[in-house]
Amino acid sequence: MLRELPGGAAVQQDEARITAVTADAPISAPTHGGRAKCLQRLVRLDLPVPHTVALGFAAVRDIARGVPPDTATILGHFPEDALLCVRPSSEDPDWGGPGAILNIGMNGARHAALSETLGEEAATSLYFRFVQAYAVHVARLDPDMFDEIEGAGQQALGEALRAYEDETEEPFPQDRAVQLSAVLRSMARAWEGTTARLLRRAKGAPDDAGLGLVVQEMAFGLGAGECGSGVLQLVDSTAGEARVTGRYLSQSQGREALRESDAALYLERDPRGPSLEERAPEVFAELLAHGRLMREKLRDEMQVEFTLENGRLYILDGVRVARAPRAALRIAVQLAEEGIISRHEALMRIEPRALSELLHRQVAPGARRNRLARGVAASPGAASGRVVFSAEAAQAAAARGEAAVLVRRETSPSDIRGMHAAVAVLTERGGMTSHAAVIGRGLGLPCVVGASELRFQMGKKQLTAPDGRTLREGDIITVDGTSGDVLAGAPAMVEAALDDAFQTFLGWADEARDIGVRANADTPADAQTARNFMAQGIGLCRTEHMFFEADRLTPMREMIFADTPEDRRAALDRLLPMQRGDFIELFRIMQGQPVCIRLFDPPLHEFLPSDRAGLRDLADALDLPLSDVTRRVEAMGEYNPMLGMRGVRLGIAVPEIYEMQARAIFEATVEASREGAPVVPEIMIPLVSAKREVELVKTRVDSVAAAVSTEKAARFSYRLGVMVETPRACLRAGDIAQHAAFLSFGTNDLTQMTYGLSRDDAGRFMSAYVEQRVFAEDPFHVLDVDGVGELLSIGAERGRAARPDVTLSLCGEHGGHPESIAFCRKAGFDYVSCSPFRVPIARLAAAQLAIADKIAQPERLVAPISGA
Ligand code: PEP
Ligand code: MG
Repeated sequence: MLRELPGGAAVQQDEARITAVTADAPISAPTHGGRAKCLQRLVRLDLPVPHTVALGFAAVRDIARGVPPDTATILGHFPEDALLCVRPSSEDPDWGGPGAILNIGMNGARHAALSETLGEEAATSLYFRFVQAYAVHVARLDPDMFDEIEGAGQQALGEALRAYEDETEEPFPQDRAVQLSAVLRSMARAWEGTTARLLRRAKGAPDDAGLGLVVQEMAFGLGAGECGSGVLQLVDSTAGEARVTGRYLSQSQGREALRESDAALYLERDPRGPSLEERAPEVFAELLAHGRLMREKLRDEMQVEFTLENGRLYILDGVRVARAPRAALRIAVQLAEEGIISRHEALMRIEPRALSELLHRQVAPGARRNRLARGVAASPGAASGRVVFSAEAAQAAAARGEAAVLVRRETSPSDIRGMHAAVAVLTERGGMTSHAAVIGRGLGLPCVVGASELRFQMGKKQLTAPDGRTLREGDIITVDGTSGDVLAGAPAMVEAALDDAFQTFLGWADEARDIGVRANADTPADAQTARNFMAQGIGLCRTEHMFFEADRLTPMREMIFADTPEDRRAALDRLLPMQRGDFIELFRIMQGQPVCIRLFDPPLHEFLPSDRAGLRDLADALDLPLSDVTRRVEAMGEYNPMLGMRGVRLGIAVPEIYEMQARAIFEATVEASREGAPVVPEIMIPLVSAKREVELVKTRVDSVAAAVSTEKAARFSYRLGVMVETPRACLRAGDIAQHAAFLSFGTNDLTQMTYGLSRDDAGRFMSAYVEQRVFAEDPFHVLDVDGVGELLSIGAERGRAARPDVTLSLCGEHGGHPESIAFCRKAGFDYVSCSPFRVPIARLAAAQLAIADKIAQPERLVAPISGA
């Protein structure tokens, strides 16, 4: 307890500047750092912690500014002959700090005295270690000066002391107070250095982050009896499995046991070698009990640093166990299942983006990375395979059972089958919403786009790295879509981890969240992935991909080339059963869940060949002269196809396509409803900008529904909605919502049109823009809440005002990002829809937002999850 005195705050601060770490000392992480706070907790647990004094941030800041450290007060807490160590204590231990300095107080006299008690060898070694550490880290001398010195005995010590004296032109300081003062000053200054600032800023530390220091009495790991030091943890850091890990090394200090693994003992009995449990069973049992107590009371997996001094155990420190993402998740689940932390706390401990490392294979953390180049990390996960330069070659490789990496300048819909066959995709051009990136994420296929550091010579079938290395077809590379790296060869990988801990964890997330999460899924495989990841339905099924299948491309092209509506219908009649089959399969997989099908969106000429060989094949297939085919393909070209004849414009100009799709959807609805629960399909019209477009399409779709209902003698209902992806649709959402049961915001096109920025070309200059802070982030990647967000808010408000029950959602690539989900929750959206592989990330992010709100306003009632 602090004393209530006049000017209390100043007194409290003063009291806390230098304080012994006792159970009730005024110590907190924001004033003394995480290590000091943790040591206080260990003291409160009655663990055998050597006597410790903490210096608060204010005291250390003064020292860095040149105020002499108050060594008299510090040393007053310790016996006169105690050796000391100093360790950093930053507010968040992850922000780092200068390295610890051990054995402060060693000098000629202590050496002589300790030679009597610990033995000469141990005493000499302690002194030698201290001279070395002091010279390098405090006096900032060149570490090479000790290169010529052999061993750590008397002679070595003499040479080290002489070397110090030669370099500094003064004898090695003998006074403990002088030594301590210099150590404190050098650590305080190191924290203020530019490199340290940059390093900790990269870990999220604020610019004014403080450093505390802890001064601790040394427990000797050297000397007579069983002496040594080690590190214990109760889980492994890679997978988070519960097992004792760590090492112990006799006659050592600090973390030497982890470095010199040959001589180090295992802790628990181990078939691989001798253990501390065998050598000192009581000590091991005591250590284990302390470790377990720390885990329970500090509510986390802790790494315990310990020392044995003549058989007596000391706990020097406890730090959070470093952990890979999969370990972090298992640890959080285990702690919650044992009631050590709450489920909400477990959910809050995992960064949503870290989940993506669990959903895909990754390059193993320690593997050597032979980097060729770097591009945009467009779809996470890593895969190795042989380079191929065409979709056909990827398919041929897959048929031979070989893993292939598809390399293209950029991909187009005609590469889809090749992408399905490949294990990864690498492109020269494109950004986060380019074709390769979107499809890659949907398929869970690792993908690096915009890798323009590499020279792509497609004609020569060759890639050249910036350092001159060349790769030809058949060479093995690795695409790491998590980091954006393209690596030579095939490094070791770690597998995806969708285990029981993962499922349990996401189940808890679903209980906590209050916004729905659906998946963007175009194929049965996507839908199955969406189902496996427990999406609450399909929020966007892009139907155009269905027309690129081999058996569909020809009737599709015939339809495009048809001269009359009758000819067009005849071609569409051939496509109808195939489309119906697609939808029946989707409805079956998604049984009981809503499926939102978007009518045909892209410009038709995407289905036509662009090279001469392709044109010739097409002329053959259609039995038309090549010149005729070439002329008509050219005539269909547009200057700006993304703003041309696509989406609903096509639906109005060539109505037969939407009619065929509507019929396929309704016939599939009737059939799938006969087998199981009634299906209520959702039909979505893309690229709308005017109410009249919706009226025209709605009239036609309604009449197809009536016709199918009569023909099949079946009753069904459906919902018709609009994809809001033009700025005008946002502004006129009030008009549009009159005819729309739902509005789904397509933020890919909306971002493109709001900025007037091509989503396929933005990759070329985006890094320059982000580097120069024109944009804080790539707006195709992270939702621009200021500009695009304002349009979303206007659209949502106006739509809801005109039709209070309208369902609102977001289905662009942003849908799976925590920032966009936060925005959608605030704007009162019903759900977000994202790539299937982002569904788990979205489920967790949504849960964290709801929990954070509850913590901020405990009385807030959580609304039921709306997936509709
Ligand atoms: C969008 O534009 O946001 C969208 C989801 O549609 P697409 O990416 O197919 O244009
Ligand atoms: Mg779109």
